Amino acid sequence: MIVEMRTGASKQEVDDVVQKAKSLELGVQLNLGTDKTVVALLGSNTGQIPTDIFAVLPGVESVTRIMKPYKLASREFNPRDTLVDCGGVKIGGERIVVIAGPCAVESEDQLMQAAEAVKKAGASILRGGAFKPRTSPFSFQGMQEKGLELLAKAREEFGMPVVTEVVDPHDVELVSSYADMLQVGSRNMQNYALLTNAGKSKCPVVLKRGFSCTISEWLTAADYLLTDGKNQVVLCERGIRTFEDSIRFSLDISAIPVLKKNSHLPVIVDPSHAAGHYSLVPAIAKAAVAAGADGLLIEVHPNPKEALVDGLQSLSPSDFARLMEELRTIARSVGRYI
Ligand code: PEP
Ligand code: MN
Repeated sequence: MIVEMRTGASKQEVDDVVQKAKSLELGVQLNLGTDKTVVALLGSNTGQIPTDIFAVLPGVESVTRIMKPYKLASREFNPRDTLVDCGGVKIGGERIVVIAGPCAVESEDQLMQAAEAVKKAGASILRGGAFKPRTSPFSFQGMQEKGLELLAKAREEFGMPVVTEVVDPHDVELVSSYADMLQVGSRNMQNYALLTNAGKSKCPVVLKRGFSCTISEWLTAADYLLTDGKNQVVLCERGIRTFEDSIRFSLDISAIPVLKKNSHLPVIVDPSHAAGHYSLVPAIAKAAVAAGADGLLIEVHPNPKEALVDGLQSLSPSDFARLMEELRTIARSVGRYI
């Protein structure tokens, strides 16, 4: 249930709503907007509580039941677009933010070369996996803490914030101590223990779409990250499993406008994991920007042929630089910039 306060409602009036909710054993989350406060009332029993109990309180403008399963990620809770701050880089504004780097951190040389190349081409955040969620237990699992140290070193050297994946709920604190933003991967979108811990981290979180999950399930998973008052969550569409097998995953381009309509969270697109092949990445990346994405997450490797993970879908530095130029034109045509 969402209680929208009147413009200029007093602190006492907001407190009275909160007290009433607590007396009914409801959870409360406040969205202190610049002109209006919105109070989300959370709990499995909200359906049994008449809206009038809140509608009659002084300072209340309206009370709405949210019929959707997700609440805090919804536009009803926050009608304005949320801006997410990743180490000083704002995601969700006019600027389209490009996050780029290798799938996995493999060595100091590889990461530094990748960081230098993506920075030079205009990317503003560096990516690189230190803990890799691999489909097979026999595949390279990542450099783990050593990889995190290298990411922190690259941040110092190139002045770029870093995003990296956390796989195990127990590693949230460790990864947060090195990263500027945590990534929750597609395979873990519904790992509720991981989401709960990541929600408590000081870091913003990029939540990738589970490749067999609906948009509604995705936004409901985002609510786990948002329950502790965090609003720093970015959604990343990375392709879903369909009957189509000529591509690794089918990028759901329509997810972008659907999310923009139903949620206040920024939306980015990962064309690399959808494409599965470097030659398909540019077209998908450009389509995402044209469709209104707030950013891109692109795999770039200094030498894709030698990559330990996802080499086939990784762009070389020169291909990435060319794509960035093309993206600037598309961004301008939709009133944005890179
Ligand atoms: C990744 O970004 O390296 C990754 C493993 O992505 P996804 O979780 O989307 O498969
Ligand atoms: Mn990858």
